[in-house]
Amino acid sequence: MSELAYPYEAPASQALFDRAAAVTPGGVNSPVRAFRAVGGTPRFMVSGSGPYLTDADGREYVDLVCSWGPMILGHAHPEVIAAVQEAVARGTSFGTPAEGEVALAEAMVERVAPLEEVRLVSSGTEATMSAIRLARGFTQRTKVIKFAGCYHGHVDSLLAAAGSGVATFALPDTPGVTGAQASDTIVLPYNDLEAVHAAFAAHPGEIACVITEASPGNMGVVPPLPGFNQGLKDACAANGALFVSDEVMTGFRTSRAGWYGVEGVVPDLMTFGKVMGGGFPAAAFGGRADVMAHLAPAGPVYQAGTLSGNPVATAAGLAQLRLLDDAAYEKVDAVSAQIQSLVTEALGKEGVAHTLQTASNMFSVFFTDRPVRNYEDAKAQESFRFTAFFHSLLSSGVYLPPSSFESWFVSTAHDERAVQRIADALPAAARAAAEATA
Ligand code: PLP
Repeated sequence: MSELAYPYEAPASQALFDRAAAVTPGGVNSPVRAFRAVGGTPRFMVSGSGPYLTDADGREYVDLVCSWGPMILGHAHPEVIAAVQEAVARGTSFGTPAEGEVALAEAMVERVAPLEEVRLVSSGTEATMSAIRLARGFTQRTKVIKFAGCYHGHVDSLLAAAGSGVATFALPDTPGVTGAQASDTIVLPYNDLEAVHAAFAAHPGEIACVITEASPGNMGVVPPLPGFNQGLKDACAANGALFVSDEVMTGFRTSRAGWYGVEGVVPDLMTFGKVMGGGFPAAAFGGRADVMAHLAPAGPVYQAGTLSGNPVATAAGLAQLRLLDDAAYEKVDAVSAQIQSLVTEALGKEGVAHTLQTASNMFSVFFTDRPVRNYEDAKAQESFRFTAFFHSLLSSGVYLPPSSFESWFVSTAHDERAVQRIADALPAAARAAAEATA
């Protein structure tokens, strides 16, 4: 879809985008933000409050992206802001240990039973990269199994057949990743345990770990079939490999204890990001104490970071986790269910073939009438309908992820007014989807 297919109704955003394009590749600092999959001008946001974002042209949107997951309490939650202000006044980075990082690690360990020890880092990418290194160091093996459509950040060896932006732009691989890095990655279809057993049989004693999104959200929402994650865990245990559950997206979102809290399958290692940082760059990996003991300085596997456990980020994350009690999750689940049924109703009324898939309060719509179990299924949807749907909602003040391969996110701040805005916008969007042509 050409960028010119849509009118530029956002002159201030367009001016900023032009400036950005002069100094930043593609005008953005993370590819999916550029709207390339849907066309048009990416909106430059100037503020967020509760469930709303306001762009440079002064237009307000109900936000169904929530910064791609972190803002589960909505934007600028007063208690999170107060915690940040209190922390920032004491200094922004010490380069020494500090109590905040201990408190955040304790809060995480208390919530997620398989998490015996945690190491804080600054991004989900760093978390998965470090977990893979640790798994290799611990097992003394090289190969990693990942699943097509699962995105684990832009780690070289994990970019093969990844979801999210890689799916949006249909990049089979990316230049810059060497054959050697890619050749140690075995990519299998998601939800296919037979393929996992076959890979273990074909590479005896070579596989360090299986990494999977705990419940994938980066090819749209494609939850694990019953028994899939347990099957992965069992296959790993039987073959001396580690089971790494990537909870960067699901962690502290899909329940108090993330997807682990929903399903109860015990991983050897887990990765976290997004919600635990309260909108700041904080992420983590952790799990079995005997495995984590291999990490420097306790053990030989090196890993470090100048800003790891940053005092402002840990204060934000801790404040957010403390506010996320059972009532908060009930609220997010309820508003998510409400929006889900509005979407299905609107699309149903217009006769648009669609499948809405959920993983607790995460959800997304696929423009196909078939269930989506893996990346191939996800790619078979009619994405051109999403483009029309997206732009109609955007013009009515509802901000969806600008790609059909992403989860939608809601927050405790999505109240009746925000839901009503969505309800009002949906009929026209559904009609636009129905009328769209490839
Ligand atoms: N893992 C998963 C499941 C993710 O969804 C993401 C980001 O979307 C990452 C890892 C990478 O996290 P970050 O963008 O913080 O590097």
